[in-house]
Amino acid sequence: MNQLDISEAVLANEAALAGCSEAEIRRRVAGVADVMEGCIKRGLAADGELPGGLNVRRRAPQLAAKLKALRETEIVNTQLWPMVYAMAVNEENAAGGRVVTAPTNGAAGIIPAVLHYFRKFNPHATQERVENFLLTAGAIGILYKTNASISGADVGCQGEVGVACSMAAGAYAEVIGGTPKQVENAAEMAMEHHLGLTCDPVGGLVQIPCIERNGIAAEKALKLGTLALLEDGTDKKVSLDEVIQTMLQTGRDMKSTYKETSLAGLAITLQKKAVPVSVRVVEC
Ligand code: SF4
Repeated sequence: MNQLDISEAVLANEAALAGCSEAEIRRRVAGVADVMEGCIKRGLAADGELPGGLNVRRRAPQLAAKLKALRETEIVNTQLWPMVYAMAVNEENAAGGRVVTAPTNGAAGIIPAVLHYFRKFNPHATQERVENFLLTAGAIGILYKTNASISGADVGCQGEVGVACSMAAGAYAEVIGGTPKQVENAAEMAMEHHLGLTCDPVGGLVQIPCIERNGIAAEKALKLGTLALLEDGTDKKVSLDEVIQTMLQTGRDMKSTYKETSLAGLAITLQKKAVPVSVRVVEC
């Protein structure tokens, strides 16, 4: 047994596959982290309405300003911040801004939000741990992509927001000191509580419920990553592999109207406010 962390195993594997040094892989991963950071920054500084005709205004900048003001009175838990960071990214996505597909554009806010929270609020957040976060998140994402699906058109939103939450929860567990078992458990719990999540974007736009949904999943990832470290996880009843298979089967059983068609769910409830069309794939 090599006793490697998941990020260390991924790093060695990526370097071998790419035929380059581990330092080069780290340099590339750091570049991805920088793009994520830039996206949050732009999303928090932007203003106005999102395109598409739903008249959805950007909320992240104002929410951030309110949170900052409230923090001075110390009545706000800092764990609300990842919600706002995620919303900032998804508002950028909805506006056609530059995002990192993680693992999809519609679910692009969760991983950057949890990572940014870690960088900003954790005194042990070194550059190496930032890179480890993304390496571990990537490893979890590959499991879903290879063994199930990361497409809302295929398995509903559980395959997008659910997978991103699972990736972020596991990655967060590792960088705050979790063992591979604890990482697995965090990732498993995050998917377990997204099973059955449908895709029903109003008007085919990746705005309602997508933007807020990313915010909630970011906060959930953070909490589950932390929770996983309170237990060794050896008596857990559901493995990550089992929940991935369950997600796939649930997606197969899901009616097609709940898979990026905007023909069911919220998209229909709010039909009067929007013309239903299929989701714009580039955005989700
Ligand atoms: S478009 Fe569908 S899959 Fe994508 S984030 Fe929105 S609800 Fe989820």
